[in-house]
Amino acid sequence: MNDSSSLNQLYQEVIMDHSQEPSNFGPLEAVDAVAEGYNPVCGDRIRVELRVGKDDSHDLEMVGIQGEACSICMASASMMTERCSGHSIDDSLKSIASFRALLQGESCGSFLSDLSDDLMALEGVKRFPARIKCALLPWMALKDAIDQLPEKR
Ligand code: ZN
Repeated sequence: MNDSSSLNQLYQEVIMDHSQEPSNFGPLEAVDAVAEGYNPVCGDRIRVELRVGKDDSHDLEMVGIQGEACSICMASASMMTERCSGHSIDDSLKSIASFRALLQGESCGSFLSDLSDDLMALEGVKRFPARIKCALLPWMALKDAIDQLPEKR
């Protein structure tokens, strides 16, 4: 029991660190796509901005977030920007699917490599169904923003 409670504590610290000082928070200088997510149950509002690479490589050069949200939502958004900035769109879509699977309790080992250790800290959220939407909100907004990008050439 001690092991699992100290693990929970560690996870809570990871979540608090990210929510208090979210990465990539604030407007981007140049924006190729924007989407917003709103969770009326909790009041979370997250705006996701994307900038793609200029060399037609279809990388997400930068993912930025703005808004006001609870600690779970903000931490999830912060980790998402770290996971997806500088990665390809395909990679990011995989991470979105994997994170969704993680929270919806699908046990399948293959997706774990798509997620960072920090993101795994959010796995505990799945025990609180009302908060799953908080954690997923920024990822759904990222998906909406990606969907607005022009088709791959
Ligand atoms: Zn929330």
